[in-house]
Amino acid sequence: MTTIAFIGLGNMGGPMAANLVKAGHAVVGFDLAEASRAAAAEAGVAIEPSAVAAVREGDADVVITMLPAGKHVRAVWAELLPVAKEGALFIDCSTIDVDSARAVHEMARKAGIASLDAPVSGGTGGAKGATLTFMAGGEAEAFARGKPILERMGRKIVHCGGAGAGQAAKICNNMILGISMIGVGEAFVLAEKLGLSHQALFDVASTSSGQCWSLTTYCPVPGPVPTSPANNGYKPGFAADLMLKDLKLAQEAAASAGAATPLGAAAAQLYTLFAAQGEGGTDFSGIINMLRGEHG
Ligand code: NAD
Repeated sequence: MTTIAFIGLGNMGGPMAANLVKAGHAVVGFDLAEASRAAAAEAGVAIEPSAVAAVREGDADVVITMLPAGKHVRAVWAELLPVAKEGALFIDCSTIDVDSARAVHEMARKAGIASLDAPVSGGTGGAKGATLTFMAGGEAEAFARGKPILERMGRKIVHCGGAGAGQAAKICNNMILGISMIGVGEAFVLAEKLGLSHQALFDVASTSSGQCWSLTTYCPVPGPVPTSPANNGYKPGFAADLMLKDLKLAQEAAASAGAATPLGAAAAQLYTLFAAQGEGGTDFSGIINMLRGEHG
């Protein structure tokens, strides 16, 4: 049985750790927040008084982090790598900047510890239902060791390449999503002005070259796709603040790598404006209301 230390037991990490417990692993955990610690303990995670204690006292074979941003992952890995046991595997599942992901891989390499970046898509529903998609970056050997663990928390596990490749895949995918949602929203707003019904545009575009996930699975107007958040007052789903976080990470990566991403930059600006109007907690498809000149 593999012993797993899980650091960061929030909205995503809490249910992910609970799924590892359900799969029969011994899971030792820590979170700064009392409420997260209590919920995880309820789910069978053995809570230790610090991240270091979770790794050391738990004698962890695998250490998983699920934290807000790159600075948290850098700080926690710097603290934990020196106390990890020989042969341990470190996996970061947070969504963080590619530079930080590469930096923590390098810290692990210097400490002689195998590591993966393995961000997820699928949201809190996927975390609870163990149906997440993991996009992993790191050595093939580390991936082979990590895959059976990730399979307990997700349905699809993809090895994207070397250090940082998982984060790169995540932000490239979400940049497509942010741009395409704005494109679909603009098309519906134009259709409204031209007197074309939502259903008519949907029926044509969903079977024509305008077809995309933002239209056919997550349609930003109520009606054509009954399960989309537009039918539920734009309750997330995937909140605009989280989309903005990923678009900003894509812009940081583009600046760092020297890639031209003018539409990604425009999408980041539009979601910044949407969040500034107090809509950060709204589903990201709600940006259509801002494009229409409405908000709130
Ligand atoms: P969250 O804020 O609910 O959880 C983060 C947890 O980390 C908090 O409980 C916080 O107390 C804890 N934490 C922060 N610093 C810590 C430290 N030094 N030591 C121990 N614990 C610490 O956030 P979340 O929604 O669970 O997201 C976690 C990560 O997953 C983020 O990087 C996010 O971008 C990514 N993500 C979230 C979603 C989603 O739908 N929520 C989807 C995909 C990816």
